[in-house]
Amino acid sequence: MDINLISDTVTKPSAGMLDAMMNAEVGDDVFKNDPTINALEEKVAALFGKEAALLFPSGTMANQTAIKVHTQPGDQLIADKYAHIYNYEGGGVSFNSGVSCKLLDGHRGMVTASQVEAAINPPDFYHSPLTTLVSLENTTNKGGGACWDLEEMKAIRKVCDDHGLKYHLDGARLWNAMVAKQQSPKDFGALFDTISVCFSKGLGCPVGSMLVGSKADMDKALRIRKIFGGGMRQAGYLAAAAIYSIDHQWERLAEDHRKAREIGDVLQTLPFIKSIEPLETNILIFNLTDRVDEQEFLKLLNDHGVRIITMGQGKLRIVTHMDYTDEQHEYFIDLIKRLPVKKATV
Ligand SMILES: *Cc1c(COP(=O)(O)O)cnc(C)c1O
Repeated sequence: MDINLISDTVTKPSAGMLDAMMNAEVGDDVFKNDPTINALEEKVAALFGKEAALLFPSGTMANQTAIKVHTQPGDQLIADKYAHIYNYEGGGVSFNSGVSCKLLDGHRGMVTASQVEAAINPPDFYHSPLTTLVSLENTTNKGGGACWDLEEMKAIRKVCDDHGLKYHLDGARLWNAMVAKQQSPKDFGALFDTISVCFSKGLGCPVGSMLVGSKADMDKALRIRKIFGGGMRQAGYLAAAAIYSIDHQWERLAEDHRKAREIGDVLQTLPFIKSIEPLETNILIFNLTDRVDEQEFLKLLNDHGVRIITMGQGKLRIVTHMDYTDEQHEYFIDLIKRLPVKKATV
């Protein structure tokens, strides 16, 4: 067995997706002449009820572009301490935009409207950086795939309106949240100035992310994407994969969520597990008891053909995905029940 549960980015294109890619009509997108990319951008903009959308090679570039669109050097943005834009984008907020982050101590990667409001620097106090942007994440990655309550997002929108702040959503796994919570893209499109989404996570594409927003913001984003080196030529092959994934591989995320829940249900009963974080989508974060050595545990799983990842501070992560088959699931569930975990001598 070779079961890879380190991330939902490890999937390979399905037969149907490869077929769609092979049959794509393409052109040079830097000249805006790729019909498949144009179709994808129109499709996703319409889904979210936004004026325009722009294809990016990565979610990082889509987020970093949004931050650049909404800020000036010296500004400050507000985000949760777990935010991907702060922790896992190479320091791009300062490198690309010259912006600092005010990090909030949220719960599972989510913050409240009152926390946001309290974090805004008074605009007339010129000693402090000017707060101009609030960035949220749904589902939260480091927060264990947690899904936001729409009402809290609405309350934060109001805070942004009251203080003239822009509002961005890192929706790399928003597809999962929408399936888990039965929400629609327009629920989010109505609240945020810009939203980034990834096709390369649960939807199973090899490459691709998208930013949606107003026509004016996407015109700015086009220029910034060029500066970041993200203009692609005959990338319609990738857009064809993305269109296919929305039409055929979005609803099935419910299956990944079910499998994660079933793994969680078993883990909960095992003596070497200290705690499992609440499980809402396809990301399962758990802690081993202090008496079990993390590296030995990872090696033991690996020796049995299963790869999972550590997030540091004793947190281990399992992510279910499209290429995690029913057969692998059965094997893994059976394996963890009989896993010979040795207690470290402490
Ligand atoms: C994966 C991810 C991204 C984007 O990552 P890329 O690897 O650059 O595509 C952004 N935000 C979150 C929360 C993610 O999980």
